[in-house]
Order: sequence, then structure tokens, then C-alpha cells
Amino acid sequence: MTDNSSSAYIYRSQGLHATVHKACEKCGAPGKFLTNETIQQKWPGCYVPPGDERHDIPVGSHCPHCQASRSPGLMNYLGEIWRKNFTAGVE
Ligand SMILES: [Zn+2]
Repeated sequence: MTDNSSSAYIYRSQGLHATVHKACEKCGAPGKFLTNETIQQKWPGCYVPPGDERHDIPVGSHCPHCQASRSPGLMNYLGEIWRKNFTAGVE
């Protein structure tokens, strides 16, 4: 006769963080690189093709469309909005 025992646990943590990216004060371009067709037409400097690793990444200190300097206040990290921790286990 064998002695069977088992245990399994799942730990899962989810969090949502928020950052506001304001548009360029000079040309209105978004503060991020995007694959959106409207972005391609209006601000081609901020457009990246689908699959490009820069998608959804902040543009940095200068607007890639008009080269204007982006003031630090144009990107504002608001912090963690919520977090959920899940634990499930069987012994
Ligand atoms: Zn601009």
C-alpha cells in the first residue's frame, strides 16, 4: 500500500497603474508611440507599425513629430489604482 499526498497552491497578484501622457503643447501629438491609423495621418513622427516594440512607449523629452521640448509635467505617474491578490490551495 502506498501513501499518497499532494498539495497545490496558486498565488496570483494583479495591479493596475496609471500614467497620464499629455499631448504635445505645440502640435498636439500624443505623448506615446502608437500604431493607430489616426496617429499615422496626423502625427507620423509618433506612428509605429503594428508589432513595433516601441508601441505604447512614451516618446521621451522631445516630440518626435515637431521636435519641441516636452516639459516634465506632460507625463504624470498617478501610481497604483488597485491591486488584488488571490490565493487558492489544496492539501
Ligand atoms: Zn509636437
